[in-house]
Amino acid sequence: MSKHVHVRVRQGMAVSENGDLIEEYRCGCGATWTMVHRIDEGPVEP
Ligand SMILES: [Zn+2]
Repeated sequence: MSKHVHVRVRQGMAVSENGDLIEEYRCGCGATWTMVHRIDEGPVEP
């Protein structure tokens, strides 16, 4: 048995309705990841 090391290749980016940045990654073995970056923590001005 040999360990498979996933290689995350970014497939695309999108912005959700909430304004979050969504990144999609995929490995050659078929595994996929979805990373969500919240962008709702910007500077707050009164
Ligand atoms: Zn893999």
